[in-house]
Amino acid sequence: MTEHQGRTVLGEDTVTELADRIEGSVFAPDDTGYAAAIAGFNLRSRQRPCLVVAAAGAADVRAAVGFAAARDIPVGVMATGHQPFPAEDGFLLVTTGAMRNVEIDIERGVARVGAGARWSDVVEPAQAEGLAPLNGSSPLVGVVGFTLGGGLSPFLGRSYGWAADHVVAIEVVTPDGTLRRVSAEVEPELFWGLRGGRSNFGVVTELEIGLFPVTSFYGGGIYFPAEHAEAVLRAFPEVVRDAPDGFTCSVALLNFPPVPEIPEPLRGRFLAHVRVTHLGSDEEAEKLIAPFRAIGQGVLDTIGRHPYSAFAIVHTDPADPFPYEEQGTLLAELPAKAVDSLVEIAQMAAGGLVTVLEIR
Ligand SMILES: Cc1cc2nc3c(=O)[nH]c(=O)nc-3n(C[C@H](O)[C@H](O)[C@H](O)COP(=O)(O)OP(=O)(O)OC[C@H]3O[C@@H](n4cnc5c(N)ncnc54)[C@H](O)[C@@H]3O)c2cc1C
Repeated sequence: MTEHQGRTVLGEDTVTELADRIEGSVFAPDDTGYAAAIAGFNLRSRQRPCLVVAAAGAADVRAAVGFAAARDIPVGVMATGHQPFPAEDGFLLVTTGAMRNVEIDIERGVARVGAGARWSDVVEPAQAEGLAPLNGSSPLVGVVGFTLGGGLSPFLGRSYGWAADHVVAIEVVTPDGTLRRVSAEVEPELFWGLRGGRSNFGVVTELEIGLFPVTSFYGGGIYFPAEHAEAVLRAFPEVVRDAPDGFTCSVALLNFPPVPEIPEPLRGRFLAHVRVTHLGSDEEAEKLIAPFRAIGQGVLDTIGRHPYSAFAIVHTDPADPFPYEEQGTLLAELPAKAVDSLVEIAQMAAGGLVTVLEIR
């Protein structure tokens, strides 16, 4: 291992030695395929690992972590790259995108999920058995990164809680290169730390997660034109304040760019997007969203009864990689003064300064 222009460089023999033990692929910075291997969903990432191991399974992860440990090289892990990596150099990146195995255990109501699985990989087979996971808004986000970060489902989270609290077991390769299966009974402290600690305690190769008996929801989105943004923000606290747990609502102010990928009538417009999911009756949901209905017509309205597998229509998160920066905070309450500030920001947003401002 040497340094070249401030960068960690591994000798060719060393790289070959690892590649011979890997079923997946290994990429050094000069290899064809390196750029594609490090590319994630968030194009703001500027990571520059000295080696990439595109793992085909747990054995590859073990080999990669053991190799790095023996040379004192830090290890990073990426599934989909929805979260930007800092501009780092000199680490070994394990990518898990090929490990998308999913098995549903109907008797136990759990899914065994490979490290590279996305929510779309789990929702489809779970729905075939009348079950649903505590998935997030986007079908493309990785199950492991989401769950290890806590994971709050905007569909089922208010009814069932955090995804991290419904993990049954975790298979993980710890920094010493050992593959362990941990649970509330086996190595409970590591199990506790992993659920919220993301990649700080090892590279997870598989999760076992709880599933819930949900097959449809009443909801979708209403896109209100800019002139209704203030009324939408003012209605939001009224709608959610005493809402039952089965009802989830968020509001996003969105500046859609004037590009062909965005369909009419959203293209090039500033809109207030109300997102709704309800696990109760259609009538109850309509009663709950009445303050929004009273504001006026949306330019697009997808509210209705949908199969659970259609969850992506509620938030319509972007499907193609793009560069973004995000910041969020937890609010204990939403007083009128905070709404005033949001209305002000919304007015700036309409001028193109902010792309997405969301309250969940
Ligand atoms: C469009 C969009 C919608 C979202 N919606 C929601 C939502 O509804 N609710 C919610 O709670 N969150 C949501 N998030 C946040 C999302 O859960 C996190 O960004 C999550 O970390 C993404 O995981 P990933 O695997 O897709 O991304 P990655 O960038 O690949 O990984 C994210 C983090 O997890 C770590 N990680 C990934 N795989 C492993 C592994 N095998 N072992 C150990 N560590 C690992 C990575 O090192 C990194 O720190 C959303 C994000 C986006 C971009």
